[in-house]
Amino acid sequence: MPFRIVSGDITKLHVDAIVNAANTSLLGGGGVDGAIHRAAGPRLLEECRGLHGCRTGEAKVTLGYDLPAKYVIHTVGPIWQGGRHGEEELLRSAYRNSLLLAFEKHCESVAFPMISAGVYGYPKEQALEVAVSTIRAFLEENEMDVILVIFDRESFRFDVRLYSELSGYIRNIYDDGKGPGNFLGDVARSVAFGGVSGSRRSLFSRSRKPKSSECARAVSEEPVEDAEMDEAVSLDDAPPMMNIKAEAMSCASMPGSTPGGLAEALANLDESFSQALLRMIDARGMKDSECYKKANIDRKLFSKIRSDVFYRPSKQTVLAFAVALELDLSETEEFLKKAGFALSHSNKADVIVEYFIENKNYDIYRINEALFAFDQNLLGA
Ligand code: ADP
Repeated sequence: MPFRIVSGDITKLHVDAIVNAANTSLLGGGGVDGAIHRAAGPRLLEECRGLHGCRTGEAKVTLGYDLPAKYVIHTVGPIWQGGRHGEEELLRSAYRNSLLLAFEKHCESVAFPMISAGVYGYPKEQALEVAVSTIRAFLEENEMDVILVIFDRESFRFDVRLYSELSGYIRNIYDDGKGPGNFLGDVARSVAFGGVSGSRRSLFSRSRKPKSSECARAVSEEPVEDAEMDEAVSLDDAPPMMNIKAEAMSCASMPGSTPGGLAEALANLDESFSQALLRMIDARGMKDSECYKKANIDRKLFSKIRSDVFYRPSKQTVLAFAVALELDLSETEEFLKKAGFALSHSNKADVIVEYFIENKNYDIYRINEALFAFDQNLLGA
């Protein structure tokens, strides 16, 4: 997942680089700085002495010594003085310069604490906004895994207005115990697909048939799942057997079966997830990179999906692409079905995603902040 928010201790992360929210002396301090120096050992301080400090908004790099991370990128965030002293731009620079340094060092993964959000007093909600928007702008141009580490879960401040609106929405749907059931049934969509109009309907109407060789492989091999699926992905999300049936049906329409028969009709309906995804990207007039970035999906994983017609995604991956493609709820449900999943009102994460789709808010970073705030698995892979 190119961007993720996790809770925990940054010094424990196995990434190429961790970022230290240091002070201008670079000679150690409290908070995350103290924790990093303690975990890295005294050689870190020795190397830091040779750096002769760092200005606010800038960044310098050292080795990680006893840390699991190879490098420590030391940056200095601004001290909050009310917001009229260039704090925001300085905080953006701290993130940007750290990312550029990680890039120069060929890091594939880098983890950040919430710079300035501790002793330096930057308001937490605003600090989060600056962190996420700056990282996002960088990831639009570059490939890297960037992790934002929240040490103190309780102090995670997500947009207060949105949080309370979402809480109300969840209370109405999830907590009121409509219970497990079909999502579309619950919200009483007028029509599942017949009601989808014009060009949007076309997103699900055509099918690219798999080649017979692809079918042979699908029945002889174990289906592939998201290679880079989050370890936090719950067992609920393990792809069910449905797809195997769908694949078998697709194969029934391959050369050798009766042309024009029922099996062929079903095969058209059973276009695979990968086929549907690629066709919808075309239908939307999107570039592949635009789509996988908007979905918070790793480029390598996207290539895998592209080259494997029977790729078996996780539910989070399917939802991430649904968001990137700006599908409505009916379309999202149909898309999930292709991978053997469904939305459920008994699943809090599903209800949160529903809220965003209903409100036509397709900002995956925002959705992931909300999912994190409610302790749910994030979208993407
Ligand atoms: P600053 O002086 O820039 O505010 P602090 O170290 O006081 O730096 O706090 C920055 C952020 O780092 C805070 O959100 C704090 O909760 C967090 N933090 C403290 N220790 C750790 C740690 N071990 N791992 C990750 N984050 C941490």
